Amino acid sequence: MSIERAIELANEIPLLFGTEIQSLADAHDVVLAKSLESMVDDPRFDNSAMDGWAVKEADCTNSNSKLEIIGTIQAGSSEEIEVKHGQACRIMTGAPIPPGADSIVMIEDSVVMDGYVTINGPARPHFIRKQGENITAGEVGLQSGSKLKPAHLAMVAMMGYAEIPVIKPPKIAIIGTGDELVEPGQPLQSGQIYESNTTALVGLVSEIGCEPVKYPFVTDDLDGLRKTFDLAASECDAILTSGGVSMGEWDLVRRLMEEEGEVKFWRVLIKPGGPLLFGSWKGTPLFGLPGNPVSSQIVFLSIVVPWISNSCGYHPTHGPKLYDKVRVKLLSAAAGTKSKVTLRRIQIIEQGNILVGDVPKNQGSGNLRSMVNCNGLTFLPIGVDGKSGDIIDALWLR
Ligand code: AMP
Ligand code: MG
Repeated sequence: MSIERAIELANEIPLLFGTEIQSLADAHDVVLAKSLESMVDDPRFDNSAMDGWAVKEADCTNSNSKLEIIGTIQAGSSEEIEVKHGQACRIMTGAPIPPGADSIVMIEDSVVMDGYVTINGPARPHFIRKQGENITAGEVGLQSGSKLKPAHLAMVAMMGYAEIPVIKPPKIAIIGTGDELVEPGQPLQSGQIYESNTTALVGLVSEIGCEPVKYPFVTDDLDGLRKTFDLAASECDAILTSGGVSMGEWDLVRRLMEEEGEVKFWRVLIKPGGPLLFGSWKGTPLFGLPGNPVSSQIVFLSIVVPWISNSCGYHPTHGPKLYDKVRVKLLSAAAGTKSKVTLRRIQIIEQGNILVGDVPKNQGSGNLRSMVNCNGLTFLPIGVDGKSGDIIDALWLR
């Protein structure tokens, strides 16, 4: 099955999530659950963009016009001073424009003497920031599914909200499987390796806006797997496993899912990561990621991420994301695969106004260094080899 079809089928069992009200102070990096309309105009009123003089433009067409000073308005003032012909009112940045004035003269362009100001520079209407020129009350300022960075949070505050509806990060269970696995820090016996996949998955899950819940990894044993799946299904909104989904005799995740769970699909036309399994365990969606360390990360990025984004309604440009889809010119050949889409690790750099991609050797699906040393993945269509100089689709990892 194609990657696109796999995502489509996975979307039929979406990740469910709740929403909660979050205070502005605690909303950094959370995802907005509803579009927010501004409660105010911004600017709230016509105001000065400069420290200077509020005047009538027509009074300042001659150089060295002399105007009577009638007062001062500062930011926050609600004073009512009217500017008439031949008059000027001292005004500070952000202060409301007094009635009668239509322009501002910069303070640098004036000389004050004996209650009068001599203007020796231009009076500019565009030094007045007009009410509502940035946003008007009722207009949508932030879209549902946006991840709130500092600039977004400032906008939330400006629009008048102390609290906002946000997505409650869905809980995602992460379960490693395999008889050979040992926790880092423990001694290794012969044939054993350190468990690493769940460490990557915990980070990826939280970077995409969900809450990772890591369970102690399980040996290749049906009873242990069943118990952990039951616990994870009762505590979490989705389950990610790694390992145990290939053709081997000890690939028990697949066997258990086939016998007691529900398999929606198994095997996707993707390299690396072909043996991906998806289905549900007692109603909870479950991705059986392949065990090879690179495969598990790549399948997460290319299939689980779109499923989470779609389920949670993440905004396509403002929502949480782990990569951008880009076009990259290959600096060396990247071999494709006859019957699969190929995601090779590449190093993407900006060269002038294009992106170029270097393709390192040693692309084994167990080689974690290839993930660390690269910042991109090719997206070579089925049966297509990338030649040096070709411009191809790629994912630019953040
Ligand atoms: P499997 O899919 O279970 O056959 O595993 C494929 C390969 O990935 C084997 O070489 C495993 O030792 C390795 N592997 C599986 N799970 C993990 C893990 N959690 N951490 C590191 N390597 C793993
Ligand atoms: Mg295994």
